[in-house]
Amino acid sequence: MKICLFNGGRVGVVIGDDVADVTSVLDRLPSFRYPLPRNDVLIAALPTLQPAFEAAVVAAPRIPLAEVLLESPVANPGKLIAAPVNYQAHLDEAIADEATFSRAHVRKIQETGLFLKATSSLVGASADIVIGLPDRRTDHEVELAVVIGKTAKNVLAADALQYVAGYTIGLDITIRGPEERSLRKSLDSYSVLGPWLVTAEELGDPSGLDLALDVGDEPRQRANTRDLIMNVGDLIEFASKFYTLEPGDILFTGTPEGVGPIQPGDTIRASIDRIGALEMAVTQ
Ligand code: MN
Repeated sequence: MKICLFNGGRVGVVIGDDVADVTSVLDRLPSFRYPLPRNDVLIAALPTLQPAFEAAVVAAPRIPLAEVLLESPVANPGKLIAAPVNYQAHLDEAIADEATFSRAHVRKIQETGLFLKATSSLVGASADIVIGLPDRRTDHEVELAVVIGKTAKNVLAADALQYVAGYTIGLDITIRGPEERSLRKSLDSYSVLGPWLVTAEELGDPSGLDLALDVGDEPRQRANTRDLIMNVGDLIEFASKFYTLEPGDILFTGTPEGVGPIQPGDTIRASIDRIGALEMAVTQ
């Protein structure tokens, strides 16, 4: 199942080129009082909501996808966790370009560990990427993004995919330079998820997915998730040693080779096998 959020918090199931509006199912969520849960309550409830979505699709109003504004398919992730250099070819290009890639940040993922992006940086596929500091080099990074479905702590890689609710395309927009990653990658609109979430059972094995990113007519990134240094299971094992993973937490799995600068006026198109594609304008 492909689940999207659109038009101000409405929930849809994507069917072909249409969205079936199943927002009425949200009435099944428990009502909350302060203090609110720190996880994403829709993702936490997905195992019970999904059959209700399936039932609601039959009579749901349908809207052409082209006419809706797509938001991040996870509205309230508690954490945006991200893997630094996690493809060997991207590590090689970073090592080769000392002017762009700060030496302090060019190490193997097993040594660097993971980092966090601010949740305030998160937007969906119909937003613009707004260049925040025009005097600095800002790069695109396309990544497979994993949506955690169940609370996970000290999970083994072999068991890790049981904790995944689904997958989506992630863009980890990045200012190059010497500061900590969490600062350079957390400007407003510098974390993108979309166009929708594909549930784990629909996507299947995440280890052989082609991913691509173009800027305008120019192909920039072409890779396959089989070349991840730490795959999805490895990353969940690693992350869950440090953090308790909660429903709705996002794991950006790292970008492959071919990163490059973007500027206002550019159009970014990104796609991943069995998920779909998104297209976004870069503005100032
Ligand atoms: Mn990245």
